[in-house]
Amino acid sequence: MREIPHWIGGREVAGTGTRRLPVFDPATGEVQAEVVAATTQEVRTAVRTALAVQPAWRAASLSRRAEVMFRFRDLVDGHRKEIASLLSSEHGKTVADAAGEVARGLENAEFAAGAPHLLKGGYSEQAAGGVDVYSIQQPLGVVAGITPFNFPAMVPMWMFCNALVAGNGFVLKPSEKDPSVSLLLADLLRRAGLPDGVFNIVQGDKEAVDALLADPDVKAISFVGSTPVAQSIYETGTRRGKRVQALGGAKNHMIVLPDADVPAAADAAVSAGFGSAGERCMAVSVVVAVGNVGDTLVEEIAQRIAKIRVGAASDPDAEMGPLISGVHRDKVRSYLDGEGGEIVVDGRRADISGGPGFFLAPSLVDKVDTASPYYTDEIFGPVLSVVRVDTYDDAVKLVNDNPWGNGTAIFTRDGGAARRFQYDVDCGMVGVNVPIPVPVAYYSFGGWKASLFGDVHMYGPDGLRFYTRTKVVTSRWPDPATSQVDLGFPKVR
Ligand code: NAD
Repeated sequence: MREIPHWIGGREVAGTGTRRLPVFDPATGEVQAEVVAATTQEVRTAVRTALAVQPAWRAASLSRRAEVMFRFRDLVDGHRKEIASLLSSEHGKTVADAAGEVARGLENAEFAAGAPHLLKGGYSEQAAGGVDVYSIQQPLGVVAGITPFNFPAMVPMWMFCNALVAGNGFVLKPSEKDPSVSLLLADLLRRAGLPDGVFNIVQGDKEAVDALLADPDVKAISFVGSTPVAQSIYETGTRRGKRVQALGGAKNHMIVLPDADVPAAADAAVSAGFGSAGERCMAVSVVVAVGNVGDTLVEEIAQRIAKIRVGAASDPDAEMGPLISGVHRDKVRSYLDGEGGEIVVDGRRADISGGPGFFLAPSLVDKVDTASPYYTDEIFGPVLSVVRVDTYDDAVKLVNDNPWGNGTAIFTRDGGAARRFQYDVDCGMVGVNVPIPVPVAYYSFGGWKASLFGDVHMYGPDGLRFYTRTKVVTSRWPDPATSQVDLGFPKVR
């Protein structure tokens, strides 16, 4: 059985642990490789490796660090297909969807390449007589990233691009369910000129995460995953004096007002509900039909679901792939066995063309009771709920009373209603006639309430803030300063 190695010191390193975790091919249901779960000692080795080289990386000029990001960006661009197919082969999402993930990840390398501008800090001349005050942003040291299965390329890039360009060392603990793409990204970083040891990967699960949390040399942790784990990592990490940003789960509501363009709203609901088999933290999982729009909307959504082609990632015509594991597929399917809504389209009965893998066809459940598990749980699969409410105010109350607050969207032709919604709603990311409002890389990504534990959002300006600490210098110099003649062209490197 193929073993997935760690990446330490600029090369693949075979695991020495005894626990093995299966990596499935979700399209066939077969185990295609194994992760040898990292031991506490291996995690320590990775952290020490990063610690040893981080001072030299920090000392590399900002232009040099940005240059590595430029080169990495070009390498990712040139390997889009390879990255997309590799991640599809372990995750199961279609190759086209995976290519979209790579494109959104790439944006983060582009943003990080602008670090020389973004890390300029501030300067106040003559804050007092002869005294100047300025701020500088310095790296934290060694930082860690812990990532979920659903975006095995993009979410690590959310983290390491900014962390590295700011001068930190990095240890990534990818999801054990689809770990291979992280190794490809590590190799591209090496080829981009990142010095060996600055970026490391430890494969594994909770044991590796616990070792990162316990390691005093890990100064900050970025986490993306489910809410209970996010909360636990945030609490443990901060108690141990680490900086932590921990992004959790979601239940994203799409509000459809009676004046909305119903066919467009149905297109959006189906795309955002069933793309990546509903395994996106920004997936629309609840459509909130306001007033009298419900009957037409549900009919239009059902018509579109009937046309979705489910199949393996390798099938070029497939629009939706399998779920990540058999256990998860069965859990998602079990919601349809329960009470609490009227099943309009039943994915359990569909004839799936994709083979014996972890497939479940799309389901639509109307008139969902908000006390039922359809509504209270993050199902994280291809089950779209419709909740019907009478008024706009009822819809906003529903979103605001929900414990999660990742993303939400409103569909309407009324600009005033949309503006009021963005003002009223308690969510970190809002779409206006846009169903999946994942911010571009030069804004930051983050939910509210149980969708994010911590103070700053991920990537973009908040990302650089997270991976640096600010120092303020107050200085006075005698005048005149010493000087000398130098006819050489001023160099930055
Ligand atoms: P998960 O919480 O099971 O795992 C995430 C990471 O934590 C993995 O690396 C895993 O190995 C590790 N982990 C799992 N259990 C742990 C434990 N008990 N202690 C320490 N570490 C542990 O999440 P997942 O199933 O991989 O991903 C799906 C979840 O991630 C969904 O809830 C989804 O909404 C969420 N997600 C959120 C965002 C966001 O930006 N808010 C983005 C993507 C995914």
